[in-house]
Amino acid sequence: MRKCIKCGEKAQVYLPQHRLSLCKQHYLEWFDNRVEKTIKEFKMFTRKDKVLVAVSGGKDSLSLWKSLINLGYDADGFYINLGIGEYSQKSYELAKSFSEKVGKTLHVVSLYKEMVPIPEMRKYDSRPACSVCGTVKRYYMNKFAKENGYKIIATGHNLDDEAAVLFSNTLNWSVEYLKRQYPVLPEEDGFIRKVKPLCKISEKESAMYAVLSGIDYIEEECPFSEGATSIDYKMFLAQLEEKSPGTKLRFYSEFLRKMYPILKQSEEKPKLQPCKICGEPSTNEICAVCNLKMKISQKEAKA
Ligand code: AMP
Ligand code: ZN
Ligand code: ZN
Repeated sequence: MRKCIKCGEKAQVYLPQHRLSLCKQHYLEWFDNRVEKTIKEFKMFTRKDKVLVAVSGGKDSLSLWKSLINLGYDADGFYINLGIGEYSQKSYELAKSFSEKVGKTLHVVSLYKEMVPIPEMRKYDSRPACSVCGTVKRYYMNKFAKENGYKIIATGHNLDDEAAVLFSNTLNWSVEYLKRQYPVLPEEDGFIRKVKPLCKISEKESAMYAVLSGIDYIEEECPFSEGATSIDYKMFLAQLEEKSPGTKLRFYSEFLRKMYPILKQSEEKPKLQPCKICGEPSTNEICAVCNLKMKISQKEAKA
């Protein structure tokens, strides 16, 4: 029987990459400490800042929100109803009931009201649903935070997400993306600061935190994410991790420590301007979301 290294009670969790056995209480503490350390290491925010946590109803974003509350940060939730059938309905209910349980505000923006739900968007945009969805989510996170006095947007991206993106960017030598792969994106040019406090916490670790904290979360993946190449990269990294625990964390942390500072020196910032319609930062005169909205209203007028 493994024993908790802190108190000697029966361990509930074993973390091979850290060679740590912990009981429930000490695991939850370990997780909160790791989040706190990451926030400090990358100077993400302080207890004076108002943080908006983007929650999807999944284990990562709800664990993040819970951990920030435990740590005494001023954190409210933000949910975008993407209108993806039952998946969105269920994830909304879980995010809502969590917010009620912890007594925090959950702000909601609905695509039904703002434009059209994601499944309908393919009529107006030929890109894969995940790309369109990413653009729309980033847009509303930024706009909402700015209009409602939040200085920081925190997302639940975990180590597995970040390592898979890093792996893909490295395989393709997407240098411009690598230059921006950092867990803090600063506030500039109309963008709010965006942070990823779970970037050094694996998917398994955040799932264990959610389960041990009694958080009800949506287990299904978004139906549109099926077949995404990032899933293959995650599986490949998981195999390496299995053979040699700590590989994923080393791959990502050492990139941030050794490679990112070199790449960043030659970063060329894209030229941004406020969108002529909504004022959000954009590389073109009219931003991607306003463009989509125009296409939607043109089509509606014809119908
Ligand atoms: P994904 O892009 O689905 O991998 O999600 C990455 C992060 O984006 C999550 O951890 C959340 O912080 C945020 N997010 C995803 N979906 C939503 C949503 N519907 N509403 C608000 N935030 C979301
Ligand atoms: Zn213990
Ligand atoms: Zn716009």
